Formats: sequence, C-alpha cells, structure tokens
Amino acid sequence: MRLDRFLGETTELTRSLAKKAMHRGEVRVDGEVVKNPATQVDDRHRVTWNDVPLALVGFRYVMLNKPAGVECTARRSLYPRAMDLIDLPHVERLQTVGRLDVDTTGMVLLSDDGQWSHRVTSPKHRCAKVYRVTLAEALQGESLDRAISAFAEGVLLDGEETPTRPAELAMRSPRVAELVLWEGKYHQVKRMFAAIGNHVTGLHREAIGPLRLGALAEGEWRELSADEVAAFD
Ligand code: URA
Repeated sequence: MRLDRFLGETTELTRSLAKKAMHRGEVRVDGEVVKNPATQVDDRHRVTWNDVPLALVGFRYVMLNKPAGVECTARRSLYPRAMDLIDLPHVERLQTVGRLDVDTTGMVLLSDDGQWSHRVTSPKHRCAKVYRVTLAEALQGESLDRAISAFAEGVLLDGEETPTRPAELAMRSPRVAELVLWEGKYHQVKRMFAAIGNHVTGLHREAIGPLRLGALAEGEWRELSADEVAAFD
C-alpha cells in the first residue's frame, strides 16, 4: 500500500498530516528517510515515524458491557455511542455486532471484521444470545407453560410475516426470566413479551455464543482473545 495510507492506518495522522510528517523527514522505511507519499510498502518493510516502529493491525474485536443511556449506532445523537466508550485508535471503524436498545444493558460486541460480525448475527450460524429479562407481570403456572410453548414454537410479532425462530424461556424468579434467542429482530425480546401480554421493564444481555461478561464491569470494555474470536468460526 502507499506510504501515506500506511501511516493513516497505523497512526492517528490523517493522510495530509502524514504527507507533512514525511516532508519533514520524520518517516523512514528500512532506515532511509522517505518523502514520497506514493512509495509502496507492506509488512516486510520496517516503517518508523519519529523512530517509533509502526505495524499494521489486523481486524479488531471488542466486548463492551454497555450501560443504559448508550446507543449502538455510528451516527451522533443525544446519547453517547458504544464506540465513544472504547479507547482505541480509529475507533470509528468499529461497528456494533447487532444492537441493543438504548435502555438495554450488557454485552455488545464491536468489530471491523464484517464476515465475523455476520457469523455472530446471522441466524444460520446458530449463535445463542442470552438475555435476563425483568417483567412487569409475574409469569408462573399455566401462563408460564403457555409462554414456554409459544416461544419454543415461535410467535408472530406485530408487523412481521414470519414467526420468531424457536427460543428458550426459563424463569429465575416469577418476574425475572432468562430468554435464549438465536436471531435478533428489532426490539425482539420486548415484542415477544408484548405478544404474550406482558411488558419488559429491564433487559440485560449476559452472553453471546460462548462469551460471558465475567468480571467486565458496566461501562468497561476489553479486546477479545484470538481463541474467543475463533470460537465463532
Ligand atoms: N431485544 C430487545 O427488545 N431489545 C434489545 O436491546 C435486545 C433484544
């Protein structure tokens, strides 16, 4: 790739600032000062800026424990965006892998690897998402049995033409449910409980596939390990 693009990818410099840095003689390729921004480099070259070696990073994969009041969107609005909580260079290149509503808390994954994101979100890849759901109305006895069967068979949500895919419902207490989904329709959990005449008052995503939040506190983030990334292959 061109040297100015390489600097843009590996530093906070814009391409025009990168050109200026080259012009000032701050950039070396294999020890030689290089001023031509069109010089072709790849990862076999040793590129330095002010004697600091630069290396291309591969795709990035981040887990965030999203607090309420944070949006999973790229555009700026009233609320802070999930990416605003993450302190990594070029964070705007990361996209959330699926979305949580602004009032939902819990696990959000972000990545710039579109194919990986597709594997996590596409129902075909059968990646489970586990939600803790707090309900307005207690769910027990026969109404619980009916809800478990309805969710296992699939419910037709308002405005949809196909029912939800089979989902697993279990109660942790009369008003706190665990719901496991293998897909992610818009406001799906809230709409599923609305479809059975209940109302979600609190929603938290605890897990995606094999990943758990573990000790990650609300508002904190961390990069995934290579093994965690590979677990979705
Ligand atoms: N389902 C919802 O209704 N909201 C979320 O944020 C996630 C799943």
